[in-house]
Amino acid sequence: AQWVYTFGDGKAEGQSSMRNLLGGKGANLAEMSNMGLPVPPGFTITTEVCTWYYANGRSYPEALASQVETGLAQIGKLTGKVFGDAANPLLVSVRSGARASMPGMMDTILNLGLNDVTVAALALGSGDERFAYDSYRRFIQMYSNVVLEVDHHNFEEILEVYKERKGFTLDTDLSADDWKHLVGEYKRRVEEETGKPFPQDPREQLWGAVGAVFSSWMNQRAITYRRLHAIPESWGTAVNVQAMVFGNMGETSATGVAFTRNPSTGAKELYGEFLINAQGEDVVAGIRTPQNITEVARTAAGSDKPSMEKALPEVYDQFIAVAATLEKHYRDMQDLEFTVERGKLWMLQTRNGKRTAKASLKIAVDLANEGLLTREEAVARVEPASLDQLLHPTIDPKAERRVLATGLPASPGAAQGEIVFSSDEAEALKAAGHKVILVRVETSPEDIHGMHAAEGILTTRGGMTSHAAVVARGMGKPCVSGAGSLRVDYATQTMAVAGKVLKKGEVVTIDGSTGQVLLGEVAMLQPELSGEFATLMGWADQVRRLKVRTNAETPADARVAVTFGAEGIGLCRTEHMFFDEERIVAVREMILADDEKGRRAALAKLLPMQRSDFVELFEIMAGLPVTIRLLDPPLHEFLPHTDAEIAEVAAAMGADPRKLKARAEELHEVNPMLGFRGCRLAVAYPEIAEMQARAIFEAAVIAGQKSGRPVVPEVMVPLVATKAELDLVKARIVAMAEAVMKETGASLDYIVGTMIELPRAALQAGKIAESAEFFSFGTNDLTQTTFGISRDDAASFLNPYLAKGIIEIDPFVSLDQDGVGELVSIAAERGRKTRPGIKLGICGEHGGDPASIHFCEKVGLDYVSCSPFRVPIARLAAAQAAL
Ligand code: PEP
Ligand code: MG
Repeated sequence: AQWVYTFGDGKAEGQSSMRNLLGGKGANLAEMSNMGLPVPPGFTITTEVCTWYYANGRSYPEALASQVETGLAQIGKLTGKVFGDAANPLLVSVRSGARASMPGMMDTILNLGLNDVTVAALALGSGDERFAYDSYRRFIQMYSNVVLEVDHHNFEEILEVYKERKGFTLDTDLSADDWKHLVGEYKRRVEEETGKPFPQDPREQLWGAVGAVFSSWMNQRAITYRRLHAIPESWGTAVNVQAMVFGNMGETSATGVAFTRNPSTGAKELYGEFLINAQGEDVVAGIRTPQNITEVARTAAGSDKPSMEKALPEVYDQFIAVAATLEKHYRDMQDLEFTVERGKLWMLQTRNGKRTAKASLKIAVDLANEGLLTREEAVARVEPASLDQLLHPTIDPKAERRVLATGLPASPGAAQGEIVFSSDEAEALKAAGHKVILVRVETSPEDIHGMHAAEGILTTRGGMTSHAAVVARGMGKPCVSGAGSLRVDYATQTMAVAGKVLKKGEVVTIDGSTGQVLLGEVAMLQPELSGEFATLMGWADQVRRLKVRTNAETPADARVAVTFGAEGIGLCRTEHMFFDEERIVAVREMILADDEKGRRAALAKLLPMQRSDFVELFEIMAGLPVTIRLLDPPLHEFLPHTDAEIAEVAAAMGADPRKLKARAEELHEVNPMLGFRGCRLAVAYPEIAEMQARAIFEAAVIAGQKSGRPVVPEVMVPLVATKAELDLVKARIVAMAEAVMKETGASLDYIVGTMIELPRAALQAGKIAESAEFFSFGTNDLTQTTFGISRDDAASFLNPYLAKGIIEIDPFVSLDQDGVGELVSIAAERGRKTRPGIKLGICGEHGGDPASIHFCEKVGLDYVSCSPFRVPIARLAAAQAAL
């Protein structure tokens, strides 16, 4: 088998389509090489080796060693150097590269192959002894840290002590002899810490590094990251071994990162940072403040450090051309890493760049307008769930801003919360219902869980490409990075700025769009949904087949949903209309009444309220379909609990509170979600369904007459298990429609349908469809009853299921397509057989989940219905499902 794929000198054994085998980085290095771009030669050890490694007790396939030797020889041929050679040594970098980029794994080891002998050759070959020993000490530190697990602080401490003793302040003050001396100290420390001398054999170094990459696939951070991003463990990572090029060879050398378009706004402008005379991770590490690449960006940032455009004009021109070529080739915004060695440009990585939702939309729309993508491709490019970011609030421009500090606008949107200084604490407070802002000097992959828990992230160090900025953008969390005037003191859990000291728990607001850090809570505004958002949604609407409705019962929710593009109401939960303080007494009266007369008295109070609710909803929805569900109260939600509540109802009914209390106890249920709810209520007390039907039909007549356009209500019966139940309730509804028509003299159009939310109903859908004119899948209850898992209690026992991999995703979040989905398909098929053209929709929470929407498209439902804020997500997901 081929375990190693080489690249370099204008050709490669791999290409970009081989990402599964070569990882993202390896596949793109091969592709760039094939394109004739300047890529240091190298080879990729495939992800299959990683799989093999774990399947075989952390060992390697037999043929690997010789294939690696061949790869090394090939790099040697192209560079004219020899790995391990004393006189003319080849040095390499070793990097991990999974299919999906994964912070949390071992990243990079540079300068591998250096030892006490080869360092001298490097000094001689480069004519720069200082550079050679600087590279060697970096290698010892990196390798010892990553492979030998010697903590960084060992080396930092040695360096600090040495600088202090010599009276140096900057690393650049150190001479070749200084670094030489420190190399000796570093090696001694490694031996003290590990009990073994620092490995001098380059081949031992190489296999140590390769092993570290594969091992890092299973470290805790990588495992956590995979869980948060649903990346399967089986994918494995590749390892890239590549000839070193040096960005730290003096003033004509540099290293940098760039995006071909602005990753925050999507604007068509090259956006990046670089450092002269620096190596590898110096730019992202936030140790030195990087310089801008373009002159425009430098001016905008008001930086006095020269741009690359000015400092290295020839390399700049070449780089701009390469960036444009890559963007055209990949037809997407690229995230680039490069190094300049003594005036020569080398490309080290290209990949589709991470971006904010706002940038994602703008870039997709722009690329389509530039002719690089079709409109359908543009629609497919935007992650539906990411739209959520755009629906986030921003700071009201009219609000007073008490600015504490200004950092970089690293990830847009505004957030507010209590400040906390550790990720563990952020997670704990979030679990206790607090909103927090995570404040760190800088973040590292160890902070992923804290960043996830926080509303927003604030760091005092690091640029736009720092860990905090990149990860926050990926998560869609507001982030301000590099707010350098803030002083964070972890020991006292305080943050000081401009003579003010803020303690843990004090509230700040961060504005990730301007970089401002503001004191206290500041008024926020809802987002604007025009521009590229509207354009792309328009394109999505042209390709989607599924209709998108909303679950709404309040006028406010219905209005929001309409502005988000809802095409009707798929579920109006009437019980939610009764929680209001004034109404709940009447509802309790109705529930606690011990005869029909008592109930009718309470219902008479509720009728006018219901009627006016429905009139308002019909008016807001202006001709769009509205599905109203009859009362489906898990009774416990309405029962009075306290003596004061009972007394209030007793007074309203003129009843004895003791009798009422006894009645309430009688109605108390052991398992209310499987109790006296849904159509069971209408079967026992038909007068309730009658009141609601009357309110619906009278409202339809009123709204129809007011608007001059007939309103066609869809009346929905919940929690049906048998056709007989539906027939009984439906007869009452039909009779009420007849009565209202007679009383008002108006004619009425309406349909009656049912929820399919019990397994029996799904199986008996063929029979039920004889009476039901539409089905709406209540996948919340259907999931609950199919799994036998209580909706309200699931969290406590689902977590271990997720952790142990028994289920991949919470079935209440994303539809269990195998089990619950099978019931949906069966019901759809049987329903259609009885009543061709029966209208089918879904109104469980899954109606707003992109994966579940794909399933709904496959089964051929007519619409999905979801909460108002998920309507845009559903529109886009429905379009992608149709492509
Ligand atoms: C459902 O069960 O999926 C549903 C939409 O109804 P509810 O959540 O109100 O039970
Ligand atoms: Mg339900």
